Amino acid sequence: MPQIELINVSYSYRTGEGQSVRALRNVSFSVEKGEFVALAGMNGSGKSTLAKLLNGLFVPSAGDVVIDGMNTRDEERTFDIRRKAGMVFQNPDNQMVATIIEDDVAFGPENLGVPREEMIERVDRALDAVGMQEYRTRSASKLSGGQKQRVAIAGVLAMEPEIIIFDESTSMLDPEGRAEIMGVAKKLNEKGITVIAITHNMDEAAMADRIIVLRKGRKVLDGTPKEVFASPEVEACGLALPPATELARMLSERGFRFDGTVTDEEELVEGICSQSN
Ligand code: ADP
Ligand code: MG
Repeated sequence: MPQIELINVSYSYRTGEGQSVRALRNVSFSVEKGEFVALAGMNGSGKSTLAKLLNGLFVPSAGDVVIDGMNTRDEERTFDIRRKAGMVFQNPDNQMVATIIEDDVAFGPENLGVPREEMIERVDRALDAVGMQEYRTRSASKLSGGQKQRVAIAGVLAMEPEIIIFDESTSMLDPEGRAEIMGVAKKLNEKGITVIAITHNMDEAAMADRIIVLRKGRKVLDGTPKEVFASPEVEACGLALPPATELARMLSERGFRFDGTVTDEEELVEGICSQSN
């Protein structure tokens, strides 16, 4: 049984007076436990709507979302689903609830009624996982954007989720902050947590096992980074290929031969070196 299953999911926002906006149309896919999936698409393509459907914040207008066998329509399971699928949002400043870092991370488990002893352990593990242990008793206000996002991730981890959804969590960060967050996401995934990373940065998407591309609320591509970057659809979806992929494509036009579609700098360098001698 897949961990996440979407079956013909559509979602419309009611905008008043019988009007509505169709944000998702007939989307189906499934995700196995432990996968790292990037969800890409232009602004307005339906990514955030999909994220909210995954953790039961929204219920589909049509179709079903099933998380570990639990249908998000089943109100008795809403709590379990929210706990299983944690969300990290875009703006690091909007996610802080307490001034002191350890209090912020403890907020979630505290609300779940986790006993004090266990809570201290959870906060400890969560801060270790994001490399923020040494900041434990400090104030959040002096942190960089990347550090704030790491604290936000720790807050989600303290709830012990099995799935983490990052909704453009790197988009307000500088390159260093982006790298920090993607590094943490990768590490958590290696520990078995399913990661859904929403992004329109294709360099980030290239780190995933699989990329799903949305366009105007429809799923248009679903495959490995190599498969997706090889498709002419990517640019039609308004997404820029990673610079390494772009460069390899230009070199191919000048007679260079690469072994399949290049997805990162390393493959590009290997490809060039293999023909220069
Ligand atoms: P993305 O995250 O890919 O930018 P969204 O899921 O936020 O896309 O939006 C998908 C579509 O739904 C867009 O057309 C957007 O304008 C519309 N939409 C999003 N939120 C609302 C809302 N609260 N009310 C009405 N329309 C909305
Ligand atoms: Mg969005």
